[in-house]
Amino acid sequence: MTRLFASDQFDFGSLLSPAEQAAILRLRKTLDEHVRPLVNDYWQRDEFPEQIIPHLVDLDMMNPVELRDAGETPTELFSGFRTFELARCDASVSTFYNAVAGLFRTTVNLGASAEQVAKWDPLIQSFELFGVFCLTEAEHGSDIARGLATTAERNGDTWTINGNKRWIGGVFAANTLAIFARDVADGQVKCFLVPKDAPGVSYSKITGKFALKIMQNADIDLVNVQVSDEMRLQNVNNFADVAGLLRNMRSLVSWIACGAMAGAYEAALKYVMEREQFGKPIASFQLIQEKLARMLSNLTAALSMTVRLTQQQQDGIFVDENSSMTKMQTCLMLRETVALAREVVGGNGIVVDYDVARFFADAEAIYSYEGTHEINALVVGRAITGIGSFK
Ligand SMILES: Cc1cc2nc3c(=O)[nH]c(=O)nc-3n(C[C@H](O)[C@H](O)[C@H](O)COP(=O)(O)OP(=O)(O)OC[C@H]3O[C@@H](n4cnc5c(N)ncnc54)[C@H](O)[C@@H]3O)c2cc1C
Repeated sequence: MTRLFASDQFDFGSLLSPAEQAAILRLRKTLDEHVRPLVNDYWQRDEFPEQIIPHLVDLDMMNPVELRDAGETPTELFSGFRTFELARCDASVSTFYNAVAGLFRTTVNLGASAEQVAKWDPLIQSFELFGVFCLTEAEHGSDIARGLATTAERNGDTWTINGNKRWIGGVFAANTLAIFARDVADGQVKCFLVPKDAPGVSYSKITGKFALKIMQNADIDLVNVQVSDEMRLQNVNNFADVAGLLRNMRSLVSWIACGAMAGAYEAALKYVMEREQFGKPIASFQLIQEKLARMLSNLTAALSMTVRLTQQQQDGIFVDENSSMTKMQTCLMLRETVALAREVVGGNGIVVDYDVARFFADAEAIYSYEGTHEINALVVGRAITGIGSFK
């Protein structure tokens, strides 16, 4: 039996329609030709290969031609497997694509009015409106709900924004920033689409990362930035609305974790089949096979949770603790899987040329973003006990 994804043991890929599967195969071809050959080099250079952006845009993966021809619209499951396929190739490239197609698009589609969505979503799909998600601040990560300190002050139809943002992914390629700021009048968090080149906006690359080195993250400063009320997302009126966005986004991060697991596992499997010691492939040793079995089991379990979460979301069922549990658990399994992959590749497991070292390091960033392990665990703990241990 040929599966869409070789390491998808339960063949969840078969849940996709033929048109969706064809789109994934076209994505894979582009990644194999134009992205995969570059990633290890650019990872070492700490740079994003900007030449791949036109290829990613041309793929039109937010509404691919295969689906349009078949009269279908992209399902949540398709978006998930699209993210998985990107992360199987490289976690940074997947995170970059997700910054626009996941975080920013979700923010607009759920946070904007129907008129705003009708105007902006087609521009997002064509990357003409290339936006990124700017929530975290230098002094506020996990406690952003309570601590968000960037301010927005309304004067007539114009807002003035002051503050900072940290860790924002993809700023270098974007033209728009979705800035979350606290309205000084009512103390509630709102969201504004701010042109990156607006007077008062400045940003700088975060250097010295050892994870997701291809993905460029930035610190942003906002000094008396003026933005018209038309650019405010009409349906983001407090942090509960922001939490609604995050709940939706966390499933895509679980797909990134699954894809990175598949990439690490597949690279490790290839290596152990080829590498010989004691006159035979190391894949023939029992202790190596036990590690392969754990890696594949982790991936299968992670995909099982992520697919089911996505199916429920597709049916309109959104449960905070389910998103948090899936993000938390897939990332735990990701960490174990990349460590096992790195282990079976021996010394070469710490050399970037063999791929597993890149997945090994990148897993650390995925583990921490979109809510750390602890914060997601506390969301689940609150649901189990009915007792909130944080606000
Ligand atoms: C590579 C990368 C990309 C990112 N991209 C974006 C982006 O595009 N846009 C964006 O807005 N943000 C982005 N982020 C920010 C990310 O969401 C935050 O890093 C994350 O929310 C954690 O915040 P922090 O790093 O400030 O850690 P802190 O909040 O300072 O936490 C430090 C440690 O303390 C723990 N901790 C905190 N509070 C508690 C508690 N109550 N109980 C127990 N433990 C606790 C945390 O779990 C963590 O282990 C990105 C981060 C990274 C690393």
